[in-house]
Amino acid sequence: MRREYSIRGGAPLFQVENLGFRYPKGTEDTLRGLSFNIHPGEVFGLLGPSGVGKSTVQKVLIKLLSGYSGSILYRDRDLRSYGKKFYNEIGVGFEVPVHFSKLTAEENLSFFKKLYRSTVDTDDLLKRVGLYEDRAKQISQFSKGMKVRLNFVRALLNAPSFLFLDEPTNGLDPMNSRILKDLIREFQVKGGTVLLTTHLMSDVDELCDRVAFMASGQIVEIDSPKNLKMKYGERTVTVEYVKGNGVQTETFELDQLGHNQRFIDIINTRKILTIHSQETTLEEIFINLTGVVVHG
Ligand code: ADP
Repeated sequence: MRREYSIRGGAPLFQVENLGFRYPKGTEDTLRGLSFNIHPGEVFGLLGPSGVGKSTVQKVLIKLLSGYSGSILYRDRDLRSYGKKFYNEIGVGFEVPVHFSKLTAEENLSFFKKLYRSTVDTDDLLKRVGLYEDRAKQISQFSKGMKVRLNFVRALLNAPSFLFLDEPTNGLDPMNSRILKDLIREFQVKGGTVLLTTHLMSDVDELCDRVAFMASGQIVEIDSPKNLKMKYGERTVTVEYVKGNGVQTETFELDQLGHNQRFIDIINTRKILTIHSQETTLEEIFINLTGVVVHG
């Protein structure tokens, strides 16, 4: 059962107003006026078809790309005014893991630890993601999934309070994907805030308190997965019951169901086989909003 989303008080961590961005060599704007806030303690999902600009948003927010229009406040201050301190507070997991392939996993982590003021015990994290036994192996011997898991450990090594994750479960088998999702939830339970991009609706359903759908460089919808399903949902219930020697199926509107005499009669007089409420899936909402079919 997912918990209800609640804002843990205080001002938003990020306040993004009318964000626009064009790559220096680009012929058109990639971001065209996005506005959203990210509140302390929430897992905020950024969704949209490939190439819509999700990673670009992340790169702007982590100060990797400058030259944007609009305004970005982090902790109520212009993001541009932050120096190195900002990087001690955030953890970043890029979509494509970049490690030193001739170094071992442990050596890679030691290298990145030196860049930060405070760091965590990465042995614990390596154990959690199942890489502890492989810590002395060169990265060149790592599989893609192992690199993704090490990348996640790296994102957490400076004990960040804000985590940026770009497609964090991409390329992982269901078991390892589960482990990473559990770690993301634990990070949140301890007070952390997360911005994650993904194209996997199952990740959104399980992890995100709120989700923003991007299309054509803009945010076209933003809400909790539950509210979105209610908003775009069909809201019907289908009853399957025994009639004579066969099985009969009837569908009713969920609203005012308790006053629907036909439904009440069936419930009272028939042998019911199944009752299912129809909820729109996030996949359907995604297709509806972005016009793109998702896979995964
Ligand atoms: P997403 O993360 O949603 O898949 P991206 O943010 O990676 O999308 O890319 C958004 C758009 O910006 C794409 O059309 C992509 O081709 C373009 N783009 C990405 N990086 C660059 C770059 N360095 N220079 C020019 N265009 C880029």
